This record gives sequence, C-alpha cells and structure tokens, in this order.
Amino acid sequence: KSMALTPSSLITDRFRPNAAQLKALDKLGLKTLADLLRYFPARYGALGTACKIKELKVGEEAIIFGQVTKSETKKAWRKKIPMAEATVKDETGQIKIIWFHQAYLAKRASAGTSAYFRGRVAERKGQIYLANPEIMSQAINETKLAAGNSLFIGEDTALSASQSVPVYPETRGLSSGWFHHHLKTILEENLPEQMVDPIPAELLAKYHLPRLSTALVWIHAPRRPADAAAARKRFSFEEIFLIQLARLRDRALYRAHSAARIEVETEKLAEFVKRFTFKLTAAQERAIAEILKDFKGGSPRHGGAEPMTRLLEGDVGSGKTAVAAATADAAATAGYEVGYMAPTEILARQHFENFIEFFKNLNIQVGLITSSGCYKFPAKVDRRGFTDISRAQLLKWVANGEIPILIGTHALIQKSVKWKNLAYAIIDEQHRFGTKQRAKLVQKNTGFAPHLLSMTATPIPRTLALTIYGDLDLSLLDELPAGRKEIITRIVPPSAPERQQVYESIREQLNAGRQAYVICPRINEPDPTKANALQTKSAKAEQTRLSEKVFPEFTVALVHSKLKPKDKEEIMANFASGKIKILVATSVVEVGVNVPNATSIIIEGAERFGLAQLHQLRGRVFRSSHQAYCYLFTETKSENSIKRLKALAHAKNGFELAELDLALRGAGLLSGEKQWGISDLGMEAIKNINLVTAARQSAQALT
Ligand code: ADP
Ligand code: MG
Repeated sequence: KSMALTPSSLITDRFRPNAAQLKALDKLGLKTLADLLRYFPARYGALGTACKIKELKVGEEAIIFGQVTKSETKKAWRKKIPMAEATVKDETGQIKIIWFHQAYLAKRASAGTSAYFRGRVAERKGQIYLANPEIMSQAINETKLAAGNSLFIGEDTALSASQSVPVYPETRGLSSGWFHHHLKTILEENLPEQMVDPIPAELLAKYHLPRLSTALVWIHAPRRPADAAAARKRFSFEEIFLIQLARLRDRALYRAHSAARIEVETEKLAEFVKRFTFKLTAAQERAIAEILKDFKGGSPRHGGAEPMTRLLEGDVGSGKTAVAAATADAAATAGYEVGYMAPTEILARQHFENFIEFFKNLNIQVGLITSSGCYKFPAKVDRRGFTDISRAQLLKWVANGEIPILIGTHALIQKSVKWKNLAYAIIDEQHRFGTKQRAKLVQKNTGFAPHLLSMTATPIPRTLALTIYGDLDLSLLDELPAGRKEIITRIVPPSAPERQQVYESIREQLNAGRQAYVICPRINEPDPTKANALQTKSAKAEQTRLSEKVFPEFTVALVHSKLKPKDKEEIMANFASGKIKILVATSVVEVGVNVPNATSIIIEGAERFGLAQLHQLRGRVFRSSHQAYCYLFTETKSENSIKRLKALAHAKNGFELAELDLALRGAGLLSGEKQWGISDLGMEAIKNINLVTAARQSAQALT
C-alpha cells in the first residue's frame, strides 16, 4: 500500500475488486492502471434527474441529493465482506446507503457531506437502501441537474459537461458506474502525468492535438463537449498512427532480408501468356510488369534483391489468378520455387485445378498440399491427370526442388515443409499476413526471404487500405476483362407476386442446368425488432421453405458459419460439382468461391448489407459466360434504402462502393475490431482522409 503507484501498477495494487469484477477485468484485458485509463467511455449520458427520497422505488436506478447524517464501516451480514454504511437525508425523508467491498467510500461520505448519490434502490427485510451508489460532484447546482438534459459528443450544446457522466461499455460484473468512480479516483491521483505520450510533441503541435495526460482527463471527465471531441480525435489519430508505424516497421524488418534476384526470360513468359484462352487486360499486364520489376530490383546493399511486399487488389473476377500464374511461371522457369497459399481447402483445390490448365503443356510440376491429402501434377502415367501422393513423398520432392509450384492452405507454412529455394510466396484472400507468418517464410537454409504477393478482393475505402496495408506496395486491377456480361441486378420489394416471378425465372434457369444462391442475413434466430416476421428470412427456415414449397424438384442445401469446417467443405464441394442446385447461405460464401455454373443469386434483406458486401456477394455469379442475375429482396419500402441499393446498378467497382458505404452509413458498418484489428474509436479516423494521410506521413517520417 505504501508503494508509490505508477501507471504500470496493477489495478489490484490500488483497488480491491471482488471476484466477479476481477473476472470481468480479465475478460476485458485490463490489468494495469494505464489499461484502465485507456478504457474509454462509449458516450456521455445525462446525469439524470435527482429524486426525492420519499419517491424512490425498489429496483430503480436513481439519483438523490442529500446530506449524510451518519457514516461507518463494518463487516457484512454474511461475514467477511467489508462494507460501508451511511444514512442520507433530504427534506422528504432518509435512506440508508450501503457500499459492499468499498469501505473506503465511507470516508468520502462522512457525516455532514452533501452530495449526489447514484445507484440502484434495493430492499432487504422490508427496508429499502441505495446499493453501491457513486458519489458525484458536490458542486453541481441542483436546479441545473433537474433539467435532466442529455449531452452527447458532437452535439452543440451550451450545457456544461460537468452535468454529463461518461457511460462506459459494461460487462457482467462491471458497471459503467464502477469505471466512472475508479477512473475518477486515479485521475485525481495524477497518474496520467506519468504516462509516456507515444505521439511526438511536434506532431501534437502540428495537428493541434491534446497531449496524452490532458486527453485522458478530457475523455473521462470533460468540462466541455469540445474537450471530449478533441480527446477522441487525438486517440483515434494515435491508434491509426501507431498501426501505421507498426506496419512500416514490419515492412522494414522484412525488407532487410535478401531475396532471390529473379531474372525473367521475357520470351518464355510471353509464350506462357499467349496460351491463356484470353488476352490480358491492360491492368493485368501492368501488375505483372510491376511484380517482375520487384523480382529483379532492390538496393545494392542486399546480397540479392530486396524482397517484394506487394498487394494485388482487384475486384472479384478481375483475373488475379492469371497474374499469379504468369509470375509463378516466371519464377519457376528461372529455377526457383513458388508457394501459393489459399485460406480454405476448396480455394486451394480450385487454384490447383486452374494451374493444371495453365501449366499442362509445360515441364513444370505443380503440387497441392492440404490437411486431407497431397496431390501432384502431372501424374506419372497419364500426363494430363494428377495423382494422390503421400505427404512424405511430396515434402521430399519439394525439398529437392522438384516441385517448383506448391499450392496449399496454411499447411504450406508449417515447419515440416522445407523448400530448396522458395523465392516467391503468393497469398490469396488474406486480410493480413502479419509479422509472425512472414517470419515463417524466411528460409533457414538460404537466409533468403521470398518475394511476397498478397491478393485481395475485399473492397475497402482508401483510408482503411492505407492503414491496414500500409506495409505493402499496391498493384490495382481496376479493370474487368472485356466481354463480361453485365449482371442484371433487380431490386424486388416485399410484395408476393413479384417474388413469385423471380422464383419462376430461377426455375427456368435451373431447368436449363444452371444453379442458384440464396443469401439470408441470419442463420436461424428470428429478429424480434421486426414486426413483419414473415419477411425476415433466416437461412434455416428459408432452406426448409424453398425445398418443401418453392423448389421441391431440386436439391436445396444450407451452409453457414456455425457448421463444422468439414461439413461446410463437403456442401461447397457438392455445390461445385452440381449435385446441389440451390445453396442457401449466410454471407459466408463471400470469400472467393468459384462456381461458374451458378448464375442467379437472391439476397434476402438486402438493405441490411453494406454496398461493398452486396457487390461481393453478387460477384459469386459473375463467373460465367451465361447471363447472370442478382435479385435484391428488400424488407422495407424506405426510399433511402432503395436509393442506396440503386447505386449497385451503376457502380464501376467495389472500391467505389466501399467509399459510398463510408459516406452514407459511416465507419460503423465496416465493423473494425474483429475484421481489421481497429477499435471503433480508431475507425472514426477512417472517415477522415486528412487525418489518415497525416498519420501516415508522420509514421513514414519516423521509420
Ligand atoms: P479473381 O480476381 O476474382 O481471383 P479469377 O482470377 O478467378 O478472378 O478470374 C475470373 C475468371 O476470369 C476466370 O475464369 C479467368 O479465367 C477469367 N479471366 C481472367 N483474366 C481474363 C481476361 N483478361 N480476359 C478474360 N477472362 C479472364
Ligand atoms: Mg481469386
């Protein structure tokens, strides 16, 4: 207790949380006082209106204003628990206050003190009391408080923020009030002053951002709304700045390795490209040239070349695989090994099959490694086919350099896979391939790191791309292959006859041998917020309905994220092979599945999805030479929703739609934390291109 507290002191060095609170703190990852200081309010709420003691009702959350007449600490009813008790009176009556586990509060509520108390009204043995109330500023004027105005960030209001309390995200065991109270305590103890500000002072000055200690006070206990807003801006800048700094350091770290200097035989590559059944788009040619330049290039201080760290970003169907294949051929022909990693087994297999097509006339072996088996092309006897081989055999060949191109899932970067000379690694549809995974690519035997190409079709706004892909050079496929049929996109309102027409035209398609997707917003739970339950479709109920009532003559299967990976893969494989005609799914089918025979997609509750996401879903039927159809089934007649959906018809690409989403619906829709590792506060910066470029420039200047 006598030890001086620092920001790195444990929360338990300063406070005595009970078991439930400890568990909650652990769940939130809050260990130190500094962690606690960085647990920010989600918003600021009205203090509320003070009640008269006589009016209090059991079970209510209430605020009273009164004078303490008696105050003491004791041991609780069920022994052991330390507690404090006080009695508070106003002109209408008096009430007991009990603080469990917070005996020290009795000191702050000594007899004679007048204060606000906010807590829950509880009852024991017929007597009511206020349980664990916060003690709030004694200075607040009662008439102002009684106005009960609420105050939120950004709202232009003349009200003093001292009337508003921070509202913290709550979790079982920890109330907003707990955070409010404990943060107030450590703010008063001047802990923020001891914290090191990760943003250099020049930057703070340049962008008019408050320093860390000030911002901590402003975010937890703002005097004015503008202070809270300034603090939030600072913390969102900080987050984006630190992410970019980390990314740029990742980049520097990786690029400090040497990579093979791959000299490409341009004539052979030209022959390879000529064998494609199509002519490359200008964007594909540009991307290939950029990659080949990286293969050769790099600073002379490297023993070889500087390893490439490049992102190939292109809409679904823009032909990223062809770029991967051409550059893989270039590296393999030059005598090196290539690894091609896909996120799922289905996709790995799909790439393998594509590569067999591309490489069938060449003397280059292609291997496939997944958890369920290993394969090699070409087969010994039938040169057009591929064979099952044992894992041990495959690994031996890879180690000898006899299989220059190896395709696989994560199995590809396991320790057991030893390459002779891995010089080029291609990663498909990966949000981010972090430092750790990259470290695994560095070759123990040669000390070389492979050139790295990440590929993605996920349409995100430019600000977000700059932040999360800040370590990658960009090649953009902003052009679709010529001759693609436009997908016919129709918005279908919630009236029965029109939907029946859609089902009939899908039936025609299915009878002609095609397949269809039906996407639902939920797996099974009904949505209680919607009055019109009939229209809100869950995937499970919809599968039953479609297979029994609408399409009894076809096989209708269901796939969603809660299925075991194995079951999921099996259903997807059966859909790919045509055994399943209609696939009802949640948005899990989003990532890279290629079933060219599927030409129709119905999206139920379309207005619930972001435009960029709808665009990706629609991309599932953008794979074939047949005319494709996308039916957006809506649940509302809201003109704004319909207007937003209409943008899908004109959009040139997914990135444009992502920008539009950001403008129309805000960063919340991009749901950062899970997908991108950015907090909601950080996502606030994503709306602001100036802030993001400033963070980027600052991070660049420091690396
Ligand atoms: P994605 O970028 O989504 O990975 P793919 O590489 O799977 O796209 O390509 C989608 C389809 O387009 C494939 O069937 C592929 O053969 C074809 N394709 C790729 N490039 C071209 C092109 N330049 N012209 C015509 N078709 C192309
Ligand atoms: Mg692809």
